[in-house]
Amino acid sequence: MQDKYAQVRLISKPENMLKTVYTACRTCYSADSPLNIYDCESAQDDEKMLKLINRVISSGHYSTIEHIQVSFAISNISRACSHQLVRHRHMSFSQKSQRYVKEKGQFDYLVPDTIDSNPELKQKFDEFMGKISEFYTELTENGIPAEDARAVLPNACSTSMVASLNLRELIHLANLRLCTRAQKEIRMLVKKMCDVLVQEEPWLKDYLVPKCERLGYCDEDKSCGRKPVKEK
Ligand SMILES: Cc1cc2nc3c(=O)[nH]c(=O)nc-3n(C[C@H](O)[C@H](O)[C@H](O)COP(=O)(O)OP(=O)(O)OC[C@H]3O[C@@H](n4cnc5c(N)ncnc54)[C@H](O)[C@@H]3O)c2cc1C
Repeated sequence: MQDKYAQVRLISKPENMLKTVYTACRTCYSADSPLNIYDCESAQDDEKMLKLINRVISSGHYSTIEHIQVSFAISNISRACSHQLVRHRHMSFSQKSQRYVKEKGQFDYLVPDTIDSNPELKQKFDEFMGKISEFYTELTENGIPAEDARAVLPNACSTSMVASLNLRELIHLANLRLCTRAQKEIRMLVKKMCDVLVQEEPWLKDYLVPKCERLGYCDEDKSCGRKPVKEK
């Protein structure tokens, strides 16, 4: 892949993530008000907060983590990858438009590893992208608007977006897309999203994992063998 997979930057997250989740969790089980809980002594103690948060999340009480919203600036992914990402319905996206942004010259594209590692096929792939680019240019030079000329652009075409989601959806995204059954490009993208967030919020490391880590078994038809399959 060109510059090996997505470029990802965490551009927005709450300052007081752990404390916010803790306040939400404890509010459910305390006679005290959220205002007092937020200011109380235990809300200064990461270990105490994590103990409660782990218990609440493990019991499936997920509304408590919906208060946390994070945003990522993402570039250098293929339209094939972005199409998979936008299937996640609790995410918000602002994606580079192929209507408003006309390609000038050879468009950027991503070459899947399996093709990139085969010199003969890689050369044919590049030539094919070149031909598509020539025809796209012919269309736009003949007055076809970009919104219609884009019909010939491939899934490999590079795109960029800002993507936002809450913590519940990020955990779900990680559970599905870090699984080896997910395509490599989206797996690498979601791994980078998780990694940049974990860098700032290390307590999330144990949640941002493939689903088999949370379930303790694999529920996929074809297992990679990392965990025992469901039946076993
Ligand atoms: C390995 C892999 C292969 C895939 N292959 C295909 C494929 O061949 N074809 C294809 O079309 N898609 C495919 N998908 C996409 C998949 O079907 C989902 O659309 C995508 O993963 C989003 O997952 P989701 O619906 O669980 O999550 P989200 O849309 O992120 O929603 C999160 C959760 O919210 C709840 N939810 C959201 N919307 C609704 C709703 N309308 N009703 C009830 N509950 C809701 C569900 O509990 C859902 O799990 C694939 C995904 C993966 C990971």
